[in-house]
This record gives sequence, structure tokens and C-alpha cells, in this order.
Amino acid sequence: MSIVMNGIDVAKAMKEELISRVEHLKANGENPCLAIVRVGARPDDLSYERGALKRMELVGIDCKVIELPEDIEQGDFERAFQEVNDDPAVHGILLFRPLPKYLNEEPVKEMINPVKDVDCMSSVNFAKVFCGDDTGYAPCTPEAVMAMLEHNKIDLKGKKVVIVGRSMVVGKPLAMLMLQKHATVTIAHSRTADLTATCREADVLVAAVGRPRMITADMVGEQAVVVDVGINVDAEGNLCGDVDYDKVEAKASYISPVPRGVGSVTTSILAKHVVRAAEYLHNW
Ligand code: NAP
Repeated sequence: MSIVMNGIDVAKAMKEELISRVEHLKANGENPCLAIVRVGARPDDLSYERGALKRMELVGIDCKVIELPEDIEQGDFERAFQEVNDDPAVHGILLFRPLPKYLNEEPVKEMINPVKDVDCMSSVNFAKVFCGDDTGYAPCTPEAVMAMLEHNKIDLKGKKVVIVGRSMVVGKPLAMLMLQKHATVTIAHSRTADLTATCREADVLVAAVGRPRMITADMVGEQAVVVDVGINVDAEGNLCGDVDYDKVEAKASYISPVPRGVGSVTTSILAKHVVRAAEYLHNW
């Protein structure tokens, strides 16, 4: 039987501190505000947006949603984005990606003010993550994984970590955050030769693949810590992670569920980044 790392507990623990920081900002005339830029209305985006709006409201952060038409032209999209970027009332910007295929996100990744780049799109913030410079913002999901481990007092120093998935939004930045905590990190992916053997060696195994329940019990070492980043819908239409939870749970020492796992922490990290963006203006 493993200990369940419940993301809702982590979010609750972060809430009080965020509320008091927001109150302090407001007392000093700064009203922290997140702008969400959404092109079209993909169900995934709308679902995340609802969660983000609720979390911001809970801690007292204002939100603006800029909804752009699905068929917007590149020039109009860039102009709309620049307007938000230049708005002094906006402290942080979340752009839903992927954008529709005909839109190019590269110009806005370079255009965004790094201080407002609260979900780490710009190369400036990525470089900071890779340099171990914590004055920028890591992408919210890898930072949510770190918050979940920290909340459960799991020390990474000297541990063997295997991360399955090498995307720029999860796997790679997470590896850098874990290296900062002195873990020995392996990043596995679709061309890893013996994935089962690689995963079994992990003290801490992170699944960030996007394949329902592909991490099976034989891939998990006894008493490993298992973090499931995946958000999938299985053949029966149920929400599930990348880990075969029911079987792995008997073997792991700690395990994060889906839902109520990492995904429940990401909007709290987003809120924390917006607060930091507002605090930067006061050099706090
Ligand atoms: P992604 O960009 O599609 O990357 C998936 C990674 O998994 C790639 O590196 C890929 O390897 C690897 N992979 C695919 N099939 C594999 C296999 N059979 N064996 C080993 N590795 C394999 O996905 P992502 O954006 O990182 O997201 C990963 C998952 O996390 C998704 O389920 C997504 O919905 C979820 N997610 C959750 C949150 C959250 O807040 N909880 C946030 C973001 C994403 P290659 O590089 O070799 O192709």
C-alpha cells in the first residue's frame, strides 16, 4: 500500500500564503492580474481555464480572458498579443497552446515580456531554468511536480530519478529542476532501448508521456515514488494518467493519482508566478 500524494492538499497548503501575499500587494496599490489568451474554444483549454479562473479568484488575483477567433490571421493575433503584453494592469500572461496549426507561436514567444511570462514560453525563462537561475519562471507543470514532492517531504538528493517524456513543457525542464535538488536524472523517451529496465532502476519515477496506463507494475521498482503527470481519456471515456494506478499502487511507496494529482497543483503554481510578477515591480 502506498501513500497517496494528493494534489488538492498541496494546493490548499499553498493557498494561505498566496492570499497574504496578494493582500500585501493590494495594500501597496498593486492589483495582481492574469491575462489568459485563448484562440478558439478547445474543450481542453476551456477546462484548464475554468480551473485557473477559480484558483485566481480563491487567492484574490484578477483575471482577464482574451478570446480570439479560431480563424484569426497571424498579424491580428500578434497585435492582440502585443496589446496584452503592453497593458500595465496585466502582470502575467497565459497563452493556450498548441495554437491552431496555421498560426506561428514563435514571434509571440520572443515578444512576451519575460517578467509576464508566467508559464515559461520565452527562451529567456527557459535559459534561466537550465542555468538554475530562479529569478524566472519554470513551466507550471514541472514546478507542480516539485511542489508535490516537497509537500510530501521527499528529498531528491542522491536519488535516481527517471522521467519518461522529454517535452519542453514537462520532461526537460523537470529534469533541470530535479538536478538542482541533486538528483541523478535519466530522461527516457520513445527510443529508449529497454524502458522497463530503465524505469525499474528509479527511486523516483515520473511519467509524462500521454499514453493511458502505459507504466505498468513490472516497470516500477519496489518502494519507488511514482509521479503521474499524464492526463488521458481511456477507451471507456474515463480520465486517467500514464500509470496503471491500481496495480502500481501496491508496489510504490508514494504515488500521485489522476485526477487530484499534479494537475490540481499547476494552477496554484500559476497563481504563485503572477504574484511574483507583481512583486517584482516593487523589487520585493
Ligand atoms: P508530448 O509533448 O507529447 O511528449 C510526450 C513524451 O513521451 C515524448 O518525449 C515522447 O517521446 C514520450 N513517449 C511517447 N510514447 C512513448 C513510449 N511508448 N515510450 C516512452 N516514451 C514515450 O507530451 P507532454 O506535453 O509532455 O505531456 C505529457 C503528458 O502530460 C500528457 O498526458 C499531457 O496531457 C500531460 N500534461 C499534464 C499536465 C498537468 O498539469 N498535469 C500539463 C501538461 C501536460 P519522443 O520525444 O521520443 O517522441
